[in-house]
Amino acid sequence: MSGAIEEGKGKAIEAGRSGAILVVGLGPGPDCWVTPEVSEALARATDLVGYIPYVNRCPVLEGQVRHASDNRVELDRARLAIDLCRQGRTVAVVSGGDPGVFAMAAALMEALDADPAARDLDVTVMPGVSAMQAAAARLGAPLGHDFCAISLSDNLKPWDLVARRLTAAAQGDFVIALYNPASKARPTRIFEAFDLLRSLKSAETPVAFARAVGRPDEAIVLTTLGAADPGVVDMATLVLIGSSETRLVERPGATRPWLYTPRSATSTAS
Ligand code: SAH
Repeated sequence: MSGAIEEGKGKAIEAGRSGAILVVGLGPGPDCWVTPEVSEALARATDLVGYIPYVNRCPVLEGQVRHASDNRVELDRARLAIDLCRQGRTVAVVSGGDPGVFAMAAALMEALDADPAARDLDVTVMPGVSAMQAAAARLGAPLGHDFCAISLSDNLKPWDLVARRLTAAAQGDFVIALYNPASKARPTRIFEAFDLLRSLKSAETPVAFARAVGRPDEAIVLTTLGAADPGVVDMATLVLIGSSETRLVERPGATRPWLYTPRSATSTAS
């Protein structure tokens, strides 16, 4: 597999032992947001498969083989996990956040879809804390009412589809969580997204940029759609854009007010 780095000598596999694939999410960063179920899966895996920074976040275990690969090879990774499982290995496929949100669980399902002979393998998907949940917790309760999540990456879909979904989300007055908002290869998409949303939503709409939530370099910016500078956004940022109902609760002495979306909606604003 291109870009793969393999380390470790490998745990001895008993003859005839049947393998397993454990699709796990490591959460947004800190160990305290890794579920006990996922920690246990990582401890019993013979092999780790995933994007380099996620594999690097897993505790190093003697004998466990680490198949760390470059980004953008999700399907190769899924096929590798299937091959290793067929050899009787217990493979943890690691993603950041939740494995089912813009991550490896769907790539694995795609590989199973394309390979009927692999469908009887023992596959378990384990949930994780997604970035939008971590960001929402820091801010208050912005996802308290209907919301949607959109990836701004146009690696796997055309930009016109992203634009159509942003428009529909604004017209439906959803709170919007934007994943993959910018990268070195696509620095301008976030500006295009903001231009579009500004044409459809009030300039007073609360906006949060939640960067590296739970990590030492965490940084949260609370602003409005009108005043926001999308230039501060990078690949480690989760962007939240409020609905017409999303509001602030001032907190004396705190760095910033709470941000929340009430549980009932009264407005039909679009
Ligand atoms: N499966 C992951 C998302 C993978 S897409 C999950 O459920 O969270 C990667 C994107 O997630 C990043 O570009 C960023 O938008 C967001 N993200 C991941 N970790 C984050 C963190 N600690 N703080 C803020 N955003 C994060």
